[in-house]
Amino acid sequence: LSEIIRQRAWIEIDHHAIAHNVHAIKQILSPSTELMAVVKADAYGHGALKVAQTALQAGASWLAIATLGEGIELREAGIAAPILILGAINTPEEIATIAHWKLQPTLCNPQQALIFSETLSKIGQTLPVHLKIDTGMSRLGTIWHEAADFVQLVHQLPNLKMKSVYSHLATADDPDPTIMRLQHQRFEKAISEIKAQGITPPRLHFANSAATLSDRSVHYDLVRVGLGLYGLYPAPHLRSTVDLKPVLQVKARITQVKTIPPGTGVSYGYQFISDRELRIAVVGIGYADGVSRNLSNRLEVLIRGKRVRQIGAITMDQLMLDVSNIPHLQAGEVVTLIGKDQDEEITADEWATQLGTISWEILCGFKHRLPRVSI
Ligand code: PLP
Repeated sequence: LSEIIRQRAWIEIDHHAIAHNVHAIKQILSPSTELMAVVKADAYGHGALKVAQTALQAGASWLAIATLGEGIELREAGIAAPILILGAINTPEEIATIAHWKLQPTLCNPQQALIFSETLSKIGQTLPVHLKIDTGMSRLGTIWHEAADFVQLVHQLPNLKMKSVYSHLATADDPDPTIMRLQHQRFEKAISEIKAQGITPPRLHFANSAATLSDRSVHYDLVRVGLGLYGLYPAPHLRSTVDLKPVLQVKARITQVKTIPPGTGVSYGYQFISDRELRIAVVGIGYADGVSRNLSNRLEVLIRGKRVRQIGAITMDQLMLDVSNIPHLQAGEVVTLIGKDQDEEITADEWATQLGTISWEILCGFKHRLPRVSI
């Protein structure tokens, strides 16, 4: 298989860039603040195991994943670092599995905490747990004004050992900090109410990539960094904060080059019809690899350091380019869909803008059919 990996289409993962990004982010943290590498969703499409290994080696000390399965995959591969499950776990079967694999769950509400405590008592195990407060994301967590009671309950329940209290920000990438400050105030208030009960959480955490880059006052004991680890900025105004390097490049090979006469339709539905004689290239990558069909006729790719336009509907496994301006192009040449080629670069941000989405979704959209190659 290794010989055919770079034959059709593939993703290159630059592990030096991951290490660089970890170091760059750590430079803006105080020495007592830990870095949690968020490697859920197969490390945002980059390959969870290898990313986790590189991030841990470079100085991250925690990992975060979303699902139990993602955690088991890392443990089975021998990862020993503490792993926080960000998603909700509710059933006794899942709880026993978490205990078996020494993963660390998020507790979001009193009812769930009771199920955990009861299940763990039955199987004679104690678990480290992380308590989630909802300070305004309105996703998982106990609402901020009930947080102190929730923490008090967990503190009293047997077989649960509180490791941290945390919350998640809804608008940290917005240049206007108003809502983030409001969430911060709610978090601070909840923490002081918890402390007033004589309980001191061993760790507090609040910041995702955007908050880590924008506001040191919310770093607390640990920051949960996803996007920044992969070398992308959560928003343009954060580009000046630290130097991040994109980790992922998407490449494919040209499989055929030919000339079509004027008036020739290209691809399904003839969304593109040539207005003159054109030299076109077929490339072995399509929407089943994660190149959205909505990019049809808008996508640009790089060949020999130049931007080239894509024409006609993107198909499941292939797409076409107008290569009239590139002399002597042959099957086998490499096309860069995301990444750098000489002085030109196409980023996941560019795709996100074209598709009206965010770079997080672009990264997570690349399918398993594209082999990940470490460079
Ligand atoms: N913390 C939580 C709870 C998350 O859900 C996520 C990702 O969605 C992150 C941290 C990391 O966010 P980012 O990729 O913006 O750094």
